[in-house]
Amino acid sequence: MKLIDGKKIANQIKEEIAVEVEQIKEQGGKIPHLAALIVGHDGASETYVGHKEKACIQVGFNSTVIRYEDDVAEDTLLRKVYDLNNDPEIDGFIVQLPMPKHISEQKIIEAIDPKKDVDGFHPVNLGRMVIGLPSYVSATPAGIIELIKRYNIETSGKDVVVIGRSNIVGKPISILLGQKANPGNATVTLTHSRTKNLKEIVSRADIVIAALGAAEFLTADMIKDGATVIDVGITRVKSDKTKSGWKLLGDVKFDEVAEKTEYITPVPGGVGPMTIVSLLQNTLKASKGEIYPRL
Ligand code: NAD
Repeated sequence: MKLIDGKKIANQIKEEIAVEVEQIKEQGGKIPHLAALIVGHDGASETYVGHKEKACIQVGFNSTVIRYEDDVAEDTLLRKVYDLNNDPEIDGFIVQLPMPKHISEQKIIEAIDPKKDVDGFHPVNLGRMVIGLPSYVSATPAGIIELIKRYNIETSGKDVVVIGRSNIVGKPISILLGQKANPGNATVTLTHSRTKNLKEIVSRADIVIAALGAAEFLTADMIKDGATVIDVGITRVKSDKTKSGWKLLGDVKFDEVAEKTEYITPVPGGVGPMTIVSLLQNTLKASKGEIYPRL
């Protein structure tokens, strides 16, 4: 078993970005600036935005967090999105999901200028990605592709099973790995909550990408010997063994599955840190004026 060390790779990439930002500064260029819009006080959202802010500071980016209370009007948010679209200082911005129920997430996402949509959630970016055009690819699938590249994991001709069909993880990663590209050229099966015989399908896979959000769902009996397992899931569970009183679990029962795999990502320290780094990479591209960049 070889561990795919997302934390290590993410730190390497952050160093690479920091060097580039330093050069931009020396040449008097524009410092990349990422903004995040967050509504309410959801614990997980606060944590993610906090991580993103910290990562920006680490690599020398400017970072702005715009906060609204839970009862903010949809119009107020839409106006803010338009302001950010038109603010030349902001290179890219993200809208932290989930939003409160009275806000249409789709409306907000569609209001974002696709050229500043560094999270790659806008239908223009998703659509461009689907037909193989350069686009902002959402951070988690982009991070998974980067891990596959850096660990030289062969995907061509392999059977890939993706569990979960969300717009931000399952669907885009299934499309990317099926595309005529490297990484890519895999035979991809996209599974979801209505899939029958999931165990049988997963047990045939060379590469499994688990993105369903069910703690320790994937067990050793579901995995083929020598498979690669990429665990996207993050579930916070109470723990009396940690200082915070919480611990993070992935979708994979790591200890028993790891023994059967060739490569596996841990949780935490696998896909999570790569997601943040991909966002930084997208912001850097946006600040360099790369309208619809390549992955
Ligand atoms: P989601 O929560 O929007 O959807 C879950 C998907 O899993 C659905 O498509 C559903 O059909 C499928 N599913 C649910 N139960 C299933 C079952 N028993 N069998 C097969 N499929 C099933 O998905 P999401 O937003 O992509 O999040 C998934 C997980 O990934 C969550 O734990 C989330 O916290 C985590 N996540 C992690 C990162 C990261 O950076 N590591 C980023 C995004 C999401």
